[in-house]
Amino acid sequence: MDRPRVTIFDTTLRDGEQSPGCSMNVQEKLRLAQQLDRLGVDVIEAGFPIASDGDFEAVQRIAASLRRPTIAGLARACTGDVDRAWQALQGAARPRIHVFLATSDIHLKYKLRISREKCLEQAREAVRRAKSLCADVEFSPEDATRTDVAFLCQVVEAVIAAGATTVNIPDTVGYSMPEEYGNLIRTLRAKVAGIEKVTISTHCHDDLGLAVANSLAGVQEGARQVECTINGIGERAGNASLEEVVMAMRVRADRYPYETSVAGEHLYPSSQMLAEITRVPVQPNKAITGRNAFAHEAGIHQDGMLKNPLTYEIMTPQSVGVPDSRLVLGKHSGRHALALRCEQLGHQFERRDLDEIYRRFVVLADRIKKVQDSHLIELIQDVSSGSASHGDGTANKKFPPAAASLPFPRAVSVAAGVGDGRSAHVLGNSGQATVSISHADHHGEQEDYLWGV
Ligand SMILES: [Zn+2]
Repeated sequence: MDRPRVTIFDTTLRDGEQSPGCSMNVQEKLRLAQQLDRLGVDVIEAGFPIASDGDFEAVQRIAASLRRPTIAGLARACTGDVDRAWQALQGAARPRIHVFLATSDIHLKYKLRISREKCLEQAREAVRRAKSLCADVEFSPEDATRTDVAFLCQVVEAVIAAGATTVNIPDTVGYSMPEEYGNLIRTLRAKVAGIEKVTISTHCHDDLGLAVANSLAGVQEGARQVECTINGIGERAGNASLEEVVMAMRVRADRYPYETSVAGEHLYPSSQMLAEITRVPVQPNKAITGRNAFAHEAGIHQDGMLKNPLTYEIMTPQSVGVPDSRLVLGKHSGRHALALRCEQLGHQFERRDLDEIYRRFVVLADRIKKVQDSHLIELIQDVSSGSASHGDGTANKKFPPAAASLPFPRAVSVAAGVGDGRSAHVLGNSGQATVSISHADHHGEQEDYLWGV
């Protein structure tokens, strides 16, 4: 049986770029867009062309260089914006103009200072204008979830009549609850004339941590496009995380039987590339792409994992492009995991030696929390050379207390090949070659913001 297809609309380069500290230059946007193409997203929202010359150029260059995905340019509901977006999209194989206008009373009254009648007229006119230029037109009633439902139905009906092909329902302020958001999609499908001719889209913000849940609720009620971003970046608390939406539908296809075109093995590399470009690290416990997402530390978990990964793993690291499941060696680790890691490092031990290594390992782990391979190698060398034991054998030696003294283990690996002098710190998942970000790093402020919750 064919599963319904859900269009993945990536807005990392537009909504995502609006995150504090996530701005990207044209070259970086182009590089990320090429990765999004490899990832297989259907639509790339490349920017907001009238917002700046840089945005215009980014949309233009991405439109000219990628042939498979649809390239969208954002525009407010006015002629100048729509025309500028169209100009930027000239080279696109599949252009889309994305027009938006706020529809909630609070936005109409305080931000736009226009009446509902004027709003309706402006939405209709802008979509008509866009349609006269481009066959593929998306309309977003901004702050839809706080808009009077009857008025929202009226606006959606008007823009469909004016030629919109996708209607996006933004939870702009991240206020909705999943059931509520699902009901709104259901209501639109029941009440709006012509709704069956268009694709309904979700665009949910994460202010209450519900962006992914709301997006999925929308899909269950008939939305067939999800707007989302890599690592969930976006305004304020961010947008729905692309990797979470995609993997939720893949892992739980029994409950969410929908297809997407996303190639799972490119999820982790995409996340890493974004972190590298913006230098905004992924939170360690971030679902799917955080460096702890596939790490197992508790001894009983590690033991289970080694016997059969299904004991604690609902998807394989490989399915999302993480090279290998990684057992973090910490003080809760057992002998079994330690012996395996030693083996992977090329050392096999008799029971007696392993006991000694384990004893020292536990003392060390108590002190530095996470034992890196380099630590383990030194420890192995100490035991092998028969050096006198003083506790963990590391007194006054080079084990950095680093990670343990920071509120979060901000371990990063150093990526090669970035020649812009920014030294390219990237969150690594390998647990290898870690260094700590110095407090002098000029992105410290930005990190405080992002790591503050
Ligand atoms: Zn948004």
